[in-house]
Formats: sequence, C-alpha cells, structure tokens
Amino acid sequence: VTSVAAGAVRVRAGWVLPVSSPPIRNGAVRIRGGVIQEVGPASEVGPVGDERQISLPHAALVPGLVNVHAHPELALFRGALEDISFPEWISGIIRLRWQNPDPARDLLAARWTAVEAVRAGITTVGATEASGAAAVAFTEAGLRGVVYHEVFAPDPAGVAEAMADLEAAVERLRDAAGPLVEIGISPHAPYTVCDALYREVAAWAALHDLPIATHVAESAEESAMVERGEGSFAERLRSRGIDVAPRAPTPIRLLERCGILRPRTLLIHAVRADADDLAAVAASGAAVAHCPVANARLGHGIAPLTTMLDAGIPVGLGTDSVASNNRLDVLEEARTASLLQRAATGSATLLTAAELLDLCTRGGAEALGLADRVGTLEPGKEADLCAISLAGPHTRPVHDVEAAVVHSARGSDVVLTMVAGRTLYRDGELETLDLPALEREMEGAAAAAAG
Ligand SMILES: [Zn+2]
Repeated sequence: VTSVAAGAVRVRAGWVLPVSSPPIRNGAVRIRGGVIQEVGPASEVGPVGDERQISLPHAALVPGLVNVHAHPELALFRGALEDISFPEWISGIIRLRWQNPDPARDLLAARWTAVEAVRAGITTVGATEASGAAAVAFTEAGLRGVVYHEVFAPDPAGVAEAMADLEAAVERLRDAAGPLVEIGISPHAPYTVCDALYREVAAWAALHDLPIATHVAESAEESAMVERGEGSFAERLRSRGIDVAPRAPTPIRLLERCGILRPRTLLIHAVRADADDLAAVAASGAAVAHCPVANARLGHGIAPLTTMLDAGIPVGLGTDSVASNNRLDVLEEARTASLLQRAATGSATLLTAAELLDLCTRGGAEALGLADRVGTLEPGKEADLCAISLAGPHTRPVHDVEAAVVHSARGSDVVLTMVAGRTLYRDGELETLDLPALEREMEGAAAAAAG
C-alpha cells in the first residue's frame, strides 16, 4: 500500500517562508515521497498533474516548528504546581509523578502532548522522560522526535544499577519507536546525577553514538550545590545520607570535566552560564535548549541567548513541561525570548523576527542534530511544515510576514501540520489521533493525577 506520505502534494500559500531564503509572496511547495521537490513562486512551482492540491491563500507556510525540550509524560500536571519555589516545585513533581507511578497516566499524557503539538504546528519534539510513553505516542501520532530516556543516581552507589536499567530501557525503546523517533539518553541534572554517573553516560553515549540531553545551570540552588556544596538541594541529599562536596567552578564546567560536553549533547536551560562556560560549550559542539517562559515562570532568570548565538552555539527553543510553563507554543517561546532579551539589554534591534523564526525551525533542528533532514523548506529536505493562518483580526494587516508569524500569531492559528509529507492536522481535524477518546480518558485521569 502506498502511504499518504509517498503520494505527491502541492501546497500553495499566501506566503512561503523557507527560512533558508527570503519569504515568497504567493508561493508553493511541491512534495513527493515525503520529500520536498520544489519551493518557489506558485506561478513557477508545478502543478505537474498528479498532485493533491492544498491551497491556503491567507496562511504563511513555514518549516515545521521544533520544540527542543518538553516532558510529555507530565502533561496531566499542568496547573497543579503553581506559584511555589523551585525546590518546592521539584518536591511536588516527585510526589505527583514518582511517588504515584501510573504508566496509563504517563501514556495518556504523552498522547495529549502529541495532540497539543500537532495543533500548534510542532513537527519535532525533543522529549525527556522516564516512562517510555513519548516514544510510543510520537510514533502513533506520526510526530518526529528525539526521546531522551532519563537516568538518575545522586549517590555513586547507585550508578551500576542505573546504567543497567538505562541500557535495557534504550533497547526496549528502540524496538517501540518508529523511524521518525530517535532514542537518546538524559542524565537528569547535577542535583540528581553524581559525577560517576555522568562519566558512565558520556562513555556509553560515545560508544553507541547516542544523543544526550541534560538539565544544567538552571537554578541558584543547583549552582550553590555544585560550586559550594550548599543550599537546599545539598541539604536534601545529605538528609538521605549522600555526601555532598563542592564539585566544580560552575555546573557547565562540571559537565565538561565529566565528558558530557560533546557534539549531539543538548544543554537544557544554561541560564547561569558565564563567559568561560559559553566558551567551553562553543568549543565542544554541544547545543542549548532555551526555555524562556519556564525559566521566567520559575524565577530562574534570563539565559544569555544573544551571547550564545554570537558564540556560534546551536540554540533551539523549548517549552519545558506544561507543569512549569503551562503552554506548549513554540511561537510564544520565540516572542518571549525576544521580549526578555530586549527588556534586559535595552536594545530594540536584537533578535529580529527572521532570527526568531530561524530559532523556531532551523535552529531547533540543528540543536537536535536533525538539520540535514528538516528545519528549512528546501528541495531534498523531508517535508515537515506547518501553515499559520494570518486571516484573523489579531494578525492583520500583514506588513511584515515574519513579524506577523512570530509576534502576532499564536500556536492556535496553525491550520496545517505535516511531517515527512503526511498530514497530521488540518483545519481543526486531527488525522492520526483520536481526540474524543483521549478526552474521555482525560476526565477521570486528570483528577487522579493531581490528587
Ligand atoms: Zn525540563
């Protein structure tokens, strides 16, 4: 059977924004076998005869949005941990998620995240999780993703068991995941991972060519623990009988010492990063997941985004979990990133709309190591794209189409989402996910999740 993705389709739109080249008014993209064949003015791009036609005269067609950091299995905790300090938030998620394990809840949450993603034009998700639910849900949904399986061991005595569990889980997930979902590993964070586990993970990732994602340099509590052996995270570990000593000048330097800074490592947050940290990251080939909304909501501060970009560090945008954000909207991350950088620096010229759109698409793909396959609309790239309606009162008139997309539009303005040429979402209809069934499941599960 010829799959939908193998068929030919020509998508015509009022604007086509390839990202790799300037916007095209009245453009078109021709796709065959899930791969982009041609991009240009509609008058020059086919039709050649046998394609299905999609016409979106009031929409902007852009590369699929990339959310480089999410926690799909936590979706049912949206709004359950509000207006509390970060240590209290961590305690809360341990209570809700870890002290009340529920694989059915994790899978529902991951499927719910897939629904949200395709409705918001997100075609690729970098997911960190411990359940394996996202690998299953993304495969079912037809989403592209890198799913980083989490590993924890703050105590060196737990490293061997943690590594054995990780290796078994990665093997299991590789069997469960379809061809669009890559499996990676995530040593969670410096306050849950000891140096010995970081070293083991780095060696194992190098041996098997696995991508790594790790939370780092997010909070003052984390820095206090790593740099001075102090603070609430240090006290919590000591109360469990785990020895805590100063480990490194900064959390990012700790990762460098443990071999974690390498190509295809994704550093999640990097809010508290000094010049030496950024030089080490830039030299290593590692990338950063910038999560401006979650960082602001938890009071962590503003990551040095423009400095990272100036240093040549690959950066993508992440929502982080909806338990800390509470939205899954990459366009909002882009707008917020620019607002915070401009408010903090007093510059009204940095991070142009074109640069923000690049971060949402090509930058995200590069940060996840997928830039040779997706991230721009160019012949030869896999056909991951979304169309954003610019017909609403809040997006008109359109004097500058890139500004309309990143500053006026929202994820809810998306009208078409396609991954590898397969339509996942069109005009309010989900093509691969059963929303009414998920909504029925959600009714009972949501109350139980926050209990
Ligand atoms: Zn996170």
